[in-house]
Amino acid sequence: MLATAIIDKKRDSFELSRDEIQFMVSGITDGTVPDYQIAAWAMAVLCRGMSEQETACLTDCMLSSGRQLVRATERPRVDKHSTGGLGDKVSLILAPLLSCFEVDVPMLSGRGLGITGGTLDKLESYAGYRCDLSETEITQQLQSLGCVITGTTPDIAPADRKLYALRDVTGTVPSIALITASIMSKKLAASLDALVLDVKCGSAAFMRSLADAQQLSASLVATGQRMQVPTLALISNMNQPLGRMVGNACEANEAVDVLSGNTCRVPAIARVHELALRLCSELLVAVKCYPDVNQAVRACEAAISDGRALEKFERLVVAQGGRYAQRLELAQSHMIEAAQSGWIASMNGQQIGRAVIALGGGRQRQGEAIDHRVGVEMQVEVGDHVERGSRLSRSLVIALIGSLPHEYCWIAPLRLAKKPVNHCHCG
Ligand code: URA
Repeated sequence: MLATAIIDKKRDSFELSRDEIQFMVSGITDGTVPDYQIAAWAMAVLCRGMSEQETACLTDCMLSSGRQLVRATERPRVDKHSTGGLGDKVSLILAPLLSCFEVDVPMLSGRGLGITGGTLDKLESYAGYRCDLSETEITQQLQSLGCVITGTTPDIAPADRKLYALRDVTGTVPSIALITASIMSKKLAASLDALVLDVKCGSAAFMRSLADAQQLSASLVATGQRMQVPTLALISNMNQPLGRMVGNACEANEAVDVLSGNTCRVPAIARVHELALRLCSELLVAVKCYPDVNQAVRACEAAISDGRALEKFERLVVAQGGRYAQRLELAQSHMIEAAQSGWIASMNGQQIGRAVIALGGGRQRQGEAIDHRVGVEMQVEVGDHVERGSRLSRSLVIALIGSLPHEYCWIAPLRLAKKPVNHCHCG
């Protein structure tokens, strides 16, 4: 078989056979297909697309390029994947909460990508937290605790590791087929019994339009089903950050607020609670722990109110070497006031994410050290009214946690309207 013939075939919009896809994936993994041909093939896939059958086949071949986690217990295994958004701390809530039930959560997570933060970076806000557990350690922790949140091991989907790095520098990231195979090959390596996907949609997400988010959701779900793993997707709003906090330690603190049940009085935090419980409940229903979502939500609420979920989180952090604190220390805050009065019409998520990076809370280059104590606290949501310079009404819009470098040009990323705006907070 020749890589050039496979590239030509995809360029000319033909469907690739399993053998042809396997040839490319093997060549990516063992280095026998050179980078320039892999990049050309990825571009052909991006431009011409892949059928459901080809996408499932690519996922399967990438999954088989590495190892899969062995089953640690008889309990069903479940997991969630988010396509990435600002302020998304749901994994920190979901893994310990689900492990209060008869399920295991082997969560293999990543670091920040672009403006979106990574679960591992958030957990490393607890000094000493280890994200490099071996397969044996993952198995032991699942047996003792029922949940683990760690990085993928080098043996999991090595083809994706190589292909993703190439896609990142060749303009071939936004292909539905390649994104699907990349996400699903890593997630399915954990030998799951059910998977829920939180597909983010909006200005601060990968998928900006609802149509794109629906297309990605359909592709992920179809691939999961073809690979015999019950998979479902929720599309959630990313036109503003999820919750009030965007950063690392500040997001971990907000996750602890949700796990402690301290959410009701702040609508933004209540939305984190609502999304986390919905995702957990869908999984509990999928593996038949509860007959319907309403009963599962009530069971999750009980696990929060009687302290089990928070206790599990503390045990998770400690089991992975972290020094747990109910409240992590943050850098000093600087309040930003509204420059004029009006209604918050929209937020520029890209600008919020870039500010967190400029504060030192995200990376500009791979492997860079970050300051976990910095971030941004949103004092307002889309639809809120702000009054410039008022003592009675709300005038604060954002708290910067930490200091921006002098040369950084900060423009508060909020667009104001003169009249109340129509908006929707739900997914
Ligand atoms: N996340 C992944 O793991 N892979 C992609 O291709 C995109 C997002």
